[in-house]
Parts: sequence; C-alpha cells; structure tokens
Amino acid sequence: MYCPFCRLPDSRVIDSRSTDDGTSIRRRRQCAHCQRRFTTLETYSLLVVKRSGVTEPFSRTKIVSSVRKACQGRPITEDMLDRLGQQVEENLRAAGSAQLSTHDVGLAVLEPLSELDPVAYMRFASVYRAFESLTDFENAIAELRAKCGQAVD
Ligand SMILES: [Zn+2]
Repeated sequence: MYCPFCRLPDSRVIDSRSTDDGTSIRRRRQCAHCQRRFTTLETYSLLVVKRSGVTEPFSRTKIVSSVRKACQGRPITEDMLDRLGQQVEENLRAAGSAQLSTHDVGLAVLEPLSELDPVAYMRFASVYRAFESLTDFENAIAELRAKCGQAVD
C-alpha cells in the first residue's frame, strides 16, 4: 500500500494490536522512504447473501442510500445518515458473523432508525417488512410507541 504522505509503496509494520472490541487489528506503519508513520485498520469483509442466493460485499453506502430514500422530507442530515450507517456496520460486526442475509441487514437498520426518526422508520419498515394492510402499519406503530414509551406524532 502507498504511503499517504509521499505516495511511495514501501512501509513496514512497527506495531500491531487488536481494537478494544476485538473485531479488527490496528497496525502502525512506517514509510521506508519518508520515515513518517501512519495507521491502517484491518478487518474482515462482511458478506451479504441476497434472496437470489447471490453474495455481495456489505456496502455501507447502499444502506445509507436506502435509508436516505425513507428520510425524504424529514429533518435528517447527511451527518446523521453517516452515523446511522456506521452504527449499523458496527452492530453487524459486533454480532461476529462474516456472512449476513439481507434480512439481518434490514433488522440492523430498523433499530437505530427507530431512534432517529419515527416517520422514516415506518417508511423503511413498510418496505422491508412488506406491510400489506393498515393493520400491519397499526401494529408497527404500536410497537414503536411501546418502545419509545411516548406518543409518536
Ligand atoms: Zn512516505
């Protein structure tokens, strides 16, 4: 990998340790040319198995763009979406499985999204959980109210 300072490709590892949660390894590297130091993070790739059986790499960008659609017209900033994407990925990694279904990913989105915005949550849940009737919406609203312990406008 290229040195981020001088762009030359030679560096050596001078220190290597697990992160606190144990899901990745942080390596301290020193460039052989300019001698400057930088850190790399090594972690396993998350794979998502789609309903069709096709496997693809987990993409935080994809999660964020599907949540962004559900957030249209809501007071949600790009920063909030980024944080949600990060939280979803962290939760999935913390669960410790390298291979996930689209169902696992959807579930991991619902939890933080319910805290972010109830309307966006309902939109996302209605697609993800394939709501077919008003009763499905009523049940989901009841769950959300119970979870928040407060009225949802
Ligand atoms: Zn360098």
